[in-house]
Amino acid sequence: MSSTTYSLKARYVFPVAGDPIADGVVTFDRERIISVGPSVGDEADIEDLGNVAILPGLVNAHTHLEFSHLDRPIGYRGMTLGDWIARLVSELRIEDRPPADAVRRGLLESLMSGTTALGEIAQPDWSADDFQAVPIDCTVFLELISPTDAGVDEVLKLAHRHIAAGETYQQMQLGWRWRPGICPHAPYSVHPRLLSEAAAISARHKVPLSFHLAESPEEIEFLQTSGGVFRDMLELLEQWDPSAHRPGRRPFDLLRVLAPAHRLLIVHGNYLEDEEIAFIARHAQTMSVVYCPRTHHYFGHIPHPLEKLLSSGVNVALGTDSRASSPDLNLLSDMRHVAHCHPAIALKTVLRMGTLGGAKALGLEGELGTLEVGKRPHMAVLPLPDRREADPHSLLFDQNAPIRSTWFGGNCMDDPTSLG
Ligand SMILES: [Zn+2]
Repeated sequence: MSSTTYSLKARYVFPVAGDPIADGVVTFDRERIISVGPSVGDEADIEDLGNVAILPGLVNAHTHLEFSHLDRPIGYRGMTLGDWIARLVSELRIEDRPPADAVRRGLLESLMSGTTALGEIAQPDWSADDFQAVPIDCTVFLELISPTDAGVDEVLKLAHRHIAAGETYQQMQLGWRWRPGICPHAPYSVHPRLLSEAAAISARHKVPLSFHLAESPEEIEFLQTSGGVFRDMLELLEQWDPSAHRPGRRPFDLLRVLAPAHRLLIVHGNYLEDEEIAFIARHAQTMSVVYCPRTHHYFGHIPHPLEKLLSSGVNVALGTDSRASSPDLNLLSDMRHVAHCHPAIALKTVLRMGTLGGAKALGLEGELGTLEVGKRPHMAVLPLPDRREADPHSLLFDQNAPIRSTWFGGNCMDDPTSLG
């Protein structure tokens, strides 16, 4: 065994690609997993971690790290999305801009809670330097906003620049620390021409596309009538373009526009209807829904159509969304929330959504999301309670212990201060 090979043993290894393995051992080097299986007795080179679970690194498919400095969500539970956005804009973007280290704080918090890959929604002034010290695999979706036709070309230029920067970064072979994606923001903030161009750019450059869709009743009202709080907001901001937002639409119309995207992450999907869910299921190779459980809870939406999405064959990923609408960036807490609020869903499916589901949504299922030979050795270690369970997945979710450490190859991250 070479000196750069590592073997970890745990009470349970959860490969996600198969059943939990009791007394499991994961062997890996800096780049790849070499083997996953039960302990065979020769333990000289094996580090026994004891009563813990080894999980694939968690994948947080949707967050906005720029708000990671917040101690608690903006506003109050049950407020409308329109009121929340108005407060977000007035409190954070104009009067009191987020501190420069917010992104870095968010990355550290994510890392320490077991996240090894995430989908980040970034502003045009985002800095790749913020991502260098923390080894999380980031897909950086540049947020694209232009409700009017007049602003579309400028925003498209930003998108092209962002993708070119990502391609240059990857050619430099500095690793895969970040890759570009694009995020036309939402139905009320994106001109139809921007949406169709974004889908074409995603297809041409093979980059993933995130879009907030079917998130709130106000958004559905805006699509149906061109009216409501989002119309008022656009008029107030002098961004109302009457030619852009014709009435009589629904999320289905926008899904069709976005169908050519290389990978489409439909963020939230709280108000998706059956026909829309069936459409997403028919495009399951490229489309995913990202459910943000505790953010969904914060806004007091109707129950999420999670069960229907899963039974229809839709790939569902999980996201924390930001600290502006969720208490923290701990994806395991969102998984526990799902396990608690959706008891009909098998716990192994909850684990899958927080790992492989996210990897697939981001187009990384060949590299991450499961513990399988050849994949990257990104892992999270969780202490387990002493009791026994018929389904070992109960040990993960029916308890409150935090992740103990996060592994990237041979690097064990269990102390944020070690990263400066
Ligand atoms: Zn979002």
